[in-house]
Amino acid sequence: MLKFDGNQTGGLVSTLFSLIFSVGSTANERPNIVFIFSDDHAVSAVSAYGDSLVETPNIDRIAAGGIRFDRAYVGNAICGPSRATLLTGLHSHANGFYSNEWSGPFDGEQQTLSSLLQGAGYQTAVIGKWHLYSDPVGFDHWDVIDNVFEQGTYYNPVFRSPNGVEETTGYVADLVTDKTIAWLGQAKQEDRPFFLLYNHKTPHRDWLPGPEELRDWNEEEQLMEPDSLFRNLVDLTQARSQARMRIEDYMTDNDVKLRMGKDLTPGQEALWQNAFAEGNRQYEKSDLTGQDDVRWKYQRYIKTYAASVKSMDRQIGRLLDYLETNGLMENTIVLYSSDQGFFLGENGWFDKRWMDEVSSQVPLLMEWQGHIKPGSTSDALVQNIDFAPTLLAAAGVKPKTPMHGVSLLPLFKDSPKPWHRDLYYHFYESPGFHGVARHYGVRTERYKLVYYYQNDEWELFDLVTDPEDQVNLYGKQGYAAITKDLQKRLQALRAQYQVPEIDPEVPWYHGPLIRAVEKLMLWL
Ligand code: CA
Repeated sequence: MLKFDGNQTGGLVSTLFSLIFSVGSTANERPNIVFIFSDDHAVSAVSAYGDSLVETPNIDRIAAGGIRFDRAYVGNAICGPSRATLLTGLHSHANGFYSNEWSGPFDGEQQTLSSLLQGAGYQTAVIGKWHLYSDPVGFDHWDVIDNVFEQGTYYNPVFRSPNGVEETTGYVADLVTDKTIAWLGQAKQEDRPFFLLYNHKTPHRDWLPGPEELRDWNEEEQLMEPDSLFRNLVDLTQARSQARMRIEDYMTDNDVKLRMGKDLTPGQEALWQNAFAEGNRQYEKSDLTGQDDVRWKYQRYIKTYAASVKSMDRQIGRLLDYLETNGLMENTIVLYSSDQGFFLGENGWFDKRWMDEVSSQVPLLMEWQGHIKPGSTSDALVQNIDFAPTLLAAAGVKPKTPMHGVSLLPLFKDSPKPWHRDLYYHFYESPGFHGVARHYGVRTERYKLVYYYQNDEWELFDLVTDPEDQVNLYGKQGYAAITKDLQKRLQALRAQYQVPEIDPEVPWYHGPLIRAVEKLMLWL
């Protein structure tokens, strides 16, 4: 007769435990995922990519331990839409989030990376910037920067979570990292893998550096100017000349720190004054005009941008240290990317939006020990539609409905499979800030063809001879056959992704409202 004495019960319990544990350990073999995602970080300000505006030793650690993608792009170079694509693996028209300004809130009930991973047993969290005007869906834990315009402030930002709003004191990159490390401390206790979106606000406009960088500010230091800082764009297209993004005309006093950041504590205010007050006095006295004035503004802009990157990089270092010291790197995929690139004075511009290389290319670094060769690089054409399919494939999760992107995992094997021949791009946010016309286009190994359909204008660039989209070859002798082929490929991509012929309607008052806000920002 079977008697359940203490020992036998213990044996049964331990058998049950080992059964549960073996299921659990299978689950444990699935990798954790830490996606480090920043805002407006151009490739030219990441030192893993070579000559850089600023050293990013911590971001570079991911490249050294994994792979650096040299041709990673987004499909719509604007904040919210890029984030919606990250979550859905779909271009803007298919996930419904076309524009920061008139297509929100994001529909989180559709198929997303976070919901699929959550459904597969992952612990899921998003901490930091959200920018989708909705409550995050598919996340066990969310704690996001809150603001009417979802941008939030660099100092003392307000956070929003299921518990309500929380006022904080401190620098945004530091706070986001504190919260992230606190969450990881709990997540690592559980016998389930985790997916973490660690989203920085930095280095988005208005480029306010952290306390250390304010303390170390050197007004005398001069960074390199891009060759095209004084480029005249009227010979390209009308779409280019209509844009409102020249440093000369559209950079505000707030942008160049002639006006102090709002709502600082007395200690933060003292740091701000320490960095900028004397330089501001010199500037007011000097009465700079023309190119000299642009040069002064460019230096303020680019140096605060670089210093914000440095403030963020320091915090990314803290997070990587935490993962390392807690033995988490062995089974964690760590990625670094940004929601798009940024004009850092090229064409005399700031901001993003264009299909140009500097604004649509993003840094993409990925480390996964035992799976990706340390220090490797790839020049495959990849796009942000590929992020979700890649991470789902790594987690062994199949999407229920197809995504536009494909998994990058085959690229890590010795014999790479055939890859994207071309990438589709579509920018919709017009009317919008900075006056950039709607456009769509195709990027191939060598060429880029862009159609500004509101203006009925085309641009064609040879990216081998012209890596910064400076010389429009459209209509030039000798390019008819190339253009025809690219137009065919563009139509094929539009058919493949089922891009609607008609864009969503924008309220009639939106354009005038945006212009009024732009004028107000310059006047204030
Ligand atoms: Ca952005």
